[in-house]
Amino acid sequence: MGKIRVTVWNEYRHEREHDAVAAIYPHGIHEAIAAGLREHPDLQVRTATLDEPEHGLTQAVLDETDVLTWWGHKAHGEVSDEVVARVQRRVLAGMGLIALHSGHHSKIFKKLMGTTCSLRWREADERERVWVVSPGHPIAAGLDAHFEIQEAEMYGEFFDVPAPDELVFVSWFQGGNVFRSGACWRRGNGKIFYFRPGHETYPIYYMPVVRQVLANAVRWAAPTNGPAFPYLADAINETEPLEPLPEKRGDRERVG
Ligand code: ZN
Repeated sequence: MGKIRVTVWNEYRHEREHDAVAAIYPHGIHEAIAAGLREHPDLQVRTATLDEPEHGLTQAVLDETDVLTWWGHKAHGEVSDEVVARVQRRVLAGMGLIALHSGHHSKIFKKLMGTTCSLRWREADERERVWVVSPGHPIAAGLDAHFEIQEAEMYGEFFDVPAPDELVFVSWFQGGNVFRSGACWRRGNGKIFYFRPGHETYPIYYMPVVRQVLANAVRWAAPTNGPAFPYLADAINETEPLEPLPEKRGDRERVG
């Protein structure tokens, strides 16, 4: 079987503008995520960032991408609508999308969800305990019943997303909030996973357990190569039957 082709997308602004963030992610959040995925020989990993031409997401790149991971925060509005539409169409055709942390407010995630995707949040260096609530799910493979992040930004309910098709993680925070931290949806032929951990001022994407979750999620979200989803409107405008049909009776004349 061929390798799963992953494109790790990052806004890549905080790391270039804030020394405190650059100290944690000197080569950008995307390189930290990519390094974790490159530990797995079944994954072939490239990166793309906002300030590249077409945000690094040309049609050619997307055509060679099985799973796209998305980290953005302060510049969601600078992502062009044309690229967002291109990514959406590729998801409907079968590409997996993994939205990370503040990617909950990205244009592409909101477009695919159809809701505001807003949530409660607080930056107070809180402890987070992430519980596995679907132990048999492929994204939980190899994990313990729960894992902890010693310092995290809090995200709390209500998280305004459609009810997930599958819920894999629920987080508890020291300050008392809870959050659906790992959730799955399907749109068209594509699989979407949202994973909460990963604020830019915490070294969360170096944690082995987080890296395991991301590798698991990439494998889960990869296309399964079934029949091509007819995402071009023309392709579903087929009226010819596959078998001969009886003659229509006079009183059932076609009117359309
Ligand atoms: Zn954050």
